[in-house]
Amino acid sequence: MTMFVLRDSYREALYRLGHALRSLVYPWYCLHCGVRSTHPTLPLCTRCLRMLRRVPPGEALRRLHQLPEAIGCFRAAYSLWYETATSPFRPLHHALKYGNRPVYGRRLGRLIGETFRTEWPAIDVIVPIPLHRRRYLERGYNQSAWLARGIGDVLARPVAPELLMRIRPTQSQTHLSRETRRANVARAFVAPYPERVVGRHVLLVDDLLTTGATAAWAAQALHSARVGSVTLVTLGLAA
Ligand SMILES: [Zn+2]
Repeated sequence: MTMFVLRDSYREALYRLGHALRSLVYPWYCLHCGVRSTHPTLPLCTRCLRMLRRVPPGEALRRLHQLPEAIGCFRAAYSLWYETATSPFRPLHHALKYGNRPVYGRRLGRLIGETFRTEWPAIDVIVPIPLHRRRYLERGYNQSAWLARGIGDVLARPVAPELLMRIRPTQSQTHLSRETRRANVARAFVAPYPERVVGRHVLLVDDLLTTGATAAWAAQALHSARVGSVTLVTLGLAA
Protein backbone atom coordinates (compact mmCIF):
# COMPACT_ATOMS: atom_id res chain seq x y z
CA MET A 1 0.00 0.00 0.00
CA THR A 2 2.71 2.44 1.05
CA MET A 3 4.55 1.50 -2.13
CA PHE A 4 1.58 2.56 -4.32
CA VAL A 5 1.10 5.76 -2.39
CA LEU A 6 4.76 6.59 -2.86
CA ARG A 7 4.60 5.72 -6.53
CA ASP A 8 1.55 7.91 -6.99
CA SER A 9 3.05 10.85 -5.18
CA TYR A 10 6.24 10.36 -7.19
CA ARG A 11 4.25 10.40 -10.43
CA GLU A 12 2.36 13.46 -9.24
CA ALA A 13 5.63 15.23 -8.40
CA LEU A 14 7.06 14.33 -11.83
CA TYR A 15 3.91 15.57 -13.53
CA ARG A 16 4.03 18.84 -11.60
CA LEU A 17 7.68 19.32 -12.42
CA GLY A 18 7.10 18.56 -16.11
CA HIS A 19 4.12 20.90 -16.23
CA ALA A 20 6.07 23.67 -14.50
CA LEU A 21 8.99 23.30 -16.90
CA ARG A 22 6.74 23.20 -19.99
CA SER A 23 4.63 26.12 -18.87
CA LEU A 24 7.81 28.15 -18.45
CA VAL A 25 8.59 27.85 -22.14
CA TYR A 26 5.17 27.11 -23.58
CA PRO A 27 2.00 28.13 -21.80
CA TRP A 28 -0.70 25.83 -23.03
CA TYR A 29 -3.96 27.61 -22.61
CA CYS A 30 -5.12 31.16 -23.10
CA LEU A 31 -5.80 32.77 -19.72
CA HIS A 32 -8.74 34.70 -21.13
CA CYS A 33 -10.72 32.30 -23.34
CA GLY A 34 -9.16 28.95 -22.46
CA VAL A 35 -8.28 27.82 -25.98
CA ARG A 36 -4.86 26.42 -26.68
CA SER A 37 -2.40 29.27 -26.83
CA THR A 38 -0.19 29.58 -29.87
CA HIS A 39 1.87 32.51 -28.67
CA PRO A 40 5.42 31.38 -27.90
CA THR A 41 5.91 33.48 -24.76
CA LEU A 42 2.62 34.93 -23.52
CA PRO A 43 -0.31 32.99 -22.04
CA LEU A 44 -2.90 34.47 -24.42
CA CYS A 45 -4.06 33.14 -27.77
CA THR A 46 -3.49 35.25 -30.88
CA ARG A 47 -7.16 36.26 -31.00
CA CYS A 48 -7.12 37.58 -27.41
CA LEU A 49 -3.77 39.29 -27.98
CA ARG A 50 -5.36 41.14 -30.89
CA MET A 51 -8.21 42.18 -28.57
CA LEU A 52 -5.79 44.07 -26.29
CA ARG A 53 -6.32 47.77 -27.01
CA ARG A 54 -3.19 49.87 -27.46
CA VAL A 55 -3.10 53.15 -25.58
CA PRO A 56 -2.62 56.09 -28.02
CA PRO A 57 0.46 58.34 -27.56
CA GLY A 58 -0.11 61.17 -25.10
CA GLU A 59 -2.93 59.42 -23.24
CA ALA A 60 -0.89 58.37 -20.17
CA LEU A 61 0.51 61.89 -19.74
CA ARG A 62 -3.00 63.32 -20.09
CA ARG A 63 -4.12 61.04 -17.26
CA LEU A 64 -1.23 62.17 -15.06
CA HIS A 65 -1.94 65.82 -15.71
CA GLN A 66 -5.38 65.48 -14.13
CA LEU A 67 -3.56 65.12 -10.82
CA PRO A 68 -2.04 68.27 -9.24
CA GLU A 69 0.86 66.36 -7.61
CA ALA A 70 1.89 64.88 -10.97
CA ILE A 71 2.23 68.20 -12.81
CA GLY A 72 5.84 68.87 -13.71
CA CYS A 73 6.97 65.43 -12.48
CA PHE A 74 7.25 63.68 -15.84
CA ARG A 75 9.07 64.42 -19.05
CA ALA A 76 6.93 61.82 -20.84
CA ALA A 77 4.65 58.87 -20.05
CA TYR A 78 3.66 55.71 -21.89
CA SER A 79 1.21 52.85 -21.32
CA LEU A 80 0.98 49.81 -23.54
CA TRP A 81 -2.61 48.49 -23.20
CA TYR A 82 -5.92 49.59 -21.73
CA GLU A 83 -7.20 47.71 -18.72
CA THR A 84 -10.96 47.18 -18.86
CA ALA A 85 -13.24 44.74 -17.05
CA THR A 86 -13.73 42.52 -20.09
CA SER A 87 -10.32 42.86 -21.74
CA PRO A 88 -7.84 39.96 -21.83
CA PHE A 89 -5.51 42.40 -20.08
CA ARG A 90 -7.11 41.64 -16.74
CA PRO A 91 -6.32 37.88 -16.48
CA LEU A 92 -2.84 38.59 -17.83
CA HIS A 93 -2.26 41.28 -15.22
CA HIS A 94 -3.65 39.12 -12.43
CA ALA A 95 -1.36 36.25 -13.40
CA LEU A 96 1.59 38.65 -13.34
CA LYS A 97 0.62 40.30 -10.08
CA TYR A 98 -1.06 37.62 -7.99
CA GLY A 99 -0.50 34.34 -9.81
CA ASN A 100 3.13 33.84 -8.85
CA ARG A 101 4.18 34.28 -12.48
CA PRO A 102 7.02 36.81 -12.40
CA VAL A 103 8.38 35.27 -15.61
CA TYR A 104 5.52 36.90 -17.54
CA GLY A 105 6.78 40.22 -16.20
CA ARG A 106 10.13 39.87 -17.91
CA ARG A 107 8.52 38.82 -21.21
CA LEU A 108 6.03 41.67 -21.06
CA GLY A 109 8.86 44.01 -20.14
CA ARG A 110 10.72 42.99 -23.30
CA LEU A 111 7.58 43.68 -25.29
CA ILE A 112 7.34 47.16 -23.71
CA GLY A 113 11.02 47.75 -24.50
CA GLU A 114 10.61 46.69 -28.11
CA THR A 115 7.50 48.83 -28.52
CA PHE A 116 8.96 52.08 -27.17
CA ARG A 117 12.74 51.72 -27.55
CA THR A 118 13.03 54.35 -30.29
CA GLU A 119 11.32 56.88 -27.98
CA TRP A 120 13.87 56.36 -25.22
CA PRO A 121 17.33 57.14 -26.57
CA ALA A 122 18.40 59.09 -23.48
CA ILE A 123 17.39 56.86 -20.55
CA ASP A 124 20.21 56.44 -18.01
CA VAL A 125 18.69 54.00 -15.55
CA ILE A 126 15.48 51.97 -15.14
CA VAL A 127 13.76 52.02 -11.73
CA PRO A 128 10.65 49.97 -10.86
CA ILE A 129 8.13 51.39 -8.40
CA PRO A 130 8.86 49.43 -5.23
CA LEU A 131 6.49 47.51 -3.01
CA HIS A 132 6.70 48.03 0.71
CA ARG A 133 8.89 45.37 2.30
CA ARG A 134 5.90 43.73 3.99
CA ARG A 135 4.01 43.38 0.69
CA TYR A 136 7.17 42.14 -1.00
CA LEU A 137 7.57 39.40 1.60
CA GLU A 138 3.92 38.36 1.17
CA ARG A 139 4.12 38.16 -2.61
CA GLY A 140 7.71 37.04 -2.96
CA TYR A 141 8.44 39.33 -5.91
CA ASN A 142 7.74 42.78 -7.28
CA GLN A 143 5.95 42.50 -10.63
CA SER A 144 7.19 45.94 -11.70
CA ALA A 145 10.80 44.92 -11.06
CA TRP A 146 10.34 42.01 -13.50
CA LEU A 147 8.86 44.36 -16.10
CA ALA A 148 11.88 46.63 -15.53
CA ARG A 149 14.31 43.73 -16.08
CA GLY A 150 12.60 42.88 -19.37
CA ILE A 151 12.86 46.51 -20.49
CA GLY A 152 16.51 46.54 -19.40
CA ASP A 153 17.18 43.48 -21.60
CA VAL A 154 16.03 45.45 -24.65
CA LEU A 155 17.43 48.91 -23.85
CA ALA A 156 20.72 47.57 -22.44
CA ARG A 157 20.46 50.03 -19.56
CA PRO A 158 20.97 49.24 -15.87
CA VAL A 159 17.95 48.32 -13.75
CA ALA A 160 18.30 49.68 -10.21
CA PRO A 161 15.38 48.84 -7.89
CA GLU A 162 17.38 50.07 -4.90
CA LEU A 163 17.15 53.71 -6.04
CA LEU A 164 13.60 54.00 -4.70
CA MET A 165 12.27 52.75 -1.40
CA ARG A 166 8.71 52.57 -0.15
CA ILE A 167 8.79 53.74 3.43
CA ARG A 168 5.11 53.61 4.21
CA PRO A 169 3.00 50.51 3.79
CA THR A 170 -0.15 51.32 1.85
CA GLN A 171 -3.28 49.25 1.97
CA SER A 172 -4.46 47.57 -1.21
CA GLN A 173 -5.60 50.30 -3.60
CA THR A 174 -8.11 48.20 -5.49
CA HIS A 175 -11.30 49.24 -3.71
CA LEU A 176 -10.37 52.74 -2.65
CA SER A 177 -11.86 55.97 -3.93
CA ARG A 178 -9.74 58.34 -5.96
CA GLU A 179 -9.25 60.73 -3.03
CA THR A 180 -8.33 57.96 -0.57
CA ARG A 181 -5.82 56.55 -3.05
CA ARG A 182 -4.15 59.92 -3.31
CA ALA A 183 -3.83 60.34 0.45
CA ASN A 184 -2.75 56.71 0.75
CA VAL A 185 0.49 57.12 -1.22
CA ALA A 186 1.47 60.70 -0.30
CA ARG A 187 5.15 60.77 0.70
CA ALA A 188 5.30 56.96 0.60
CA PHE A 189 8.68 56.90 -1.20
CA VAL A 190 12.26 58.04 -0.70
CA ALA A 191 15.34 57.91 -2.92
CA PRO A 192 17.99 56.52 -0.55
CA TYR A 193 20.98 57.12 -2.89
CA PRO A 194 20.54 60.68 -4.20
CA GLU A 195 24.11 60.74 -5.58
CA ARG A 196 23.12 58.00 -8.06
CA VAL A 197 20.01 59.86 -9.20
CA VAL A 198 21.13 63.47 -9.47
CA GLY A 199 21.00 64.84 -13.02
CA ARG A 200 20.04 61.50 -14.56
CA HIS A 201 17.09 60.52 -16.76
CA VAL A 202 15.16 57.79 -14.96
CA LEU A 203 12.66 55.45 -16.61
CA LEU A 204 10.13 54.69 -13.88
CA VAL A 205 8.23 51.41 -14.37
CA ASP A 206 4.89 50.26 -12.96
CA ASP A 207 2.39 47.60 -13.92
CA LEU A 208 -0.75 49.74 -13.97
CA LEU A 209 -1.50 53.47 -14.16
CA THR A 210 -4.77 54.25 -12.40
CA THR A 211 -5.00 57.76 -10.92
CA GLY A 212 -1.26 58.29 -11.24
CA ALA A 213 -0.87 59.14 -7.54
CA THR A 214 1.60 56.31 -6.88
CA ALA A 215 3.75 57.22 -9.88
CA ALA A 216 3.60 60.92 -8.96
CA TRP A 217 4.85 60.38 -5.41
CA ALA A 218 7.56 58.01 -6.61
CA ALA A 219 8.67 60.67 -9.11
CA GLN A 220 8.55 63.34 -6.41
CA ALA A 221 10.96 61.30 -4.29
CA LEU A 222 13.35 61.23 -7.29
CA HIS A 223 12.93 64.99 -7.77
CA SER A 224 13.79 65.53 -4.09
CA ALA A 225 17.06 63.76 -4.96
CA ARG A 226 17.51 66.24 -7.87
CA VAL A 227 16.89 63.75 -10.67
CA GLY A 228 17.40 65.19 -14.18
CA SER A 229 14.08 63.96 -15.56
CA VAL A 230 11.59 61.12 -15.15
CA THR A 231 9.79 59.20 -17.89
CA LEU A 232 7.05 56.81 -16.80
CA VAL A 233 6.01 53.59 -18.48
CA THR A 234 3.27 51.21 -17.39
CA LEU A 235 2.00 47.96 -18.86
CA GLY A 236 -1.64 48.99 -18.42
CA LEU A 237 -3.74 52.13 -18.25
CA ALA A 238 -6.96 51.74 -16.26
CA ALA A 239 -9.79 52.77 -18.59
ZN1 LIG B 1 -7.81 33.58 -25.96
